[in-house]
Amino acid sequence: MVDYTNFIDYSRAELLNKMRQHLNEARLQHCLNVEQTAIKLAQQYNGDVNRAGLAGLIHDYAKQRSDTEFKQVIVQQHFDPVLLQYNNAIWHGIVGAYFIANELHIHDEQILNAVRRHTVGAPQMTTLDKIIFVADYIEPGRDFPGVAQARQLANTDLDAAVRFEICHTLEYLIQKQVAIYPGTLLTYNALVPNH
Ligand code: GDP
Ligand code: FE
Ligand code: FE
Repeated sequence: MVDYTNFIDYSRAELLNKMRQHLNEARLQHCLNVEQTAIKLAQQYNGDVNRAGLAGLIHDYAKQRSDTEFKQVIVQQHFDPVLLQYNNAIWHGIVGAYFIANELHIHDEQILNAVRRHTVGAPQMTTLDKIIFVADYIEPGRDFPGVAQARQLANTDLDAAVRFEICHTLEYLIQKQVAIYPGTLLTYNALVPNH
C-alpha cells in the first residue's frame, strides 16, 4: 500500500477530512479515483508510487474555490497576470498548488509540479507529471468519446496517452470556441513533430 508519511505529518484519513471541507462528494470521489489510477500507472511505468498516489489524490483540491479567492492569490502572490484572463479551469491546477502548500502543508516540489501541470501539461514533463495528467483523464468515472482509446494507450505507452490527451483536449476546446491557455499550446507544440 501507499505511504504518504514523507510528505504529510498527519494521516491520510485526516487529509481526506481536510479535502472534504472544500470538495463535494463527486469531486472527492474523482480525486480518490485519480489516486488509485495514478498508483497503478506508477507501478506500471516504474514511477514513484507514493508521490503518484498523493498527487493524484490532491490534484483538484482547489477546484471549488471562488473566482474571487483565485484572483486574490494571483495578485497577492505575484502569479503571471496573464492568468487573470483565464478561469477556474486553468487556475485550479497552477494556482491550486499554492492552496495545497499553504493549507495542506505539502511542499514536495515534484508533487506540486504535477498538480500545477495536471490540466495544461508542460513542454517537459516528468514521469510523475505524465502519470497525473493521464490518470485524471482516464480514471474509471470518466465517460466521454475517446476515453476507451485513451485507456488503451495508457496501458501500453504513457507518452502516446499524453499526446492523445493534449490533442483531443485542444480539439474539444476549439470546437467549444473557448480561449486556449498559452501553456496548453506550448505543451502541444512540444509533443508533435516539428514540421
Ligand atoms: P478536471 O479538473 O478533473 O475536470 O480536469 P482538468 O483539470 O484536466 O481540466 C479542467 C478543464 O479545463 C477541462 O474542462 C478542460 O477541457 C479545460 N482546459 C484544459 N486546457 C484548457 C485551455 O487551454 N483553455 C481552457 N479554457 N480550458 C482548458
Ligand atoms: Fe483538474
Ligand atoms: Fe481532475
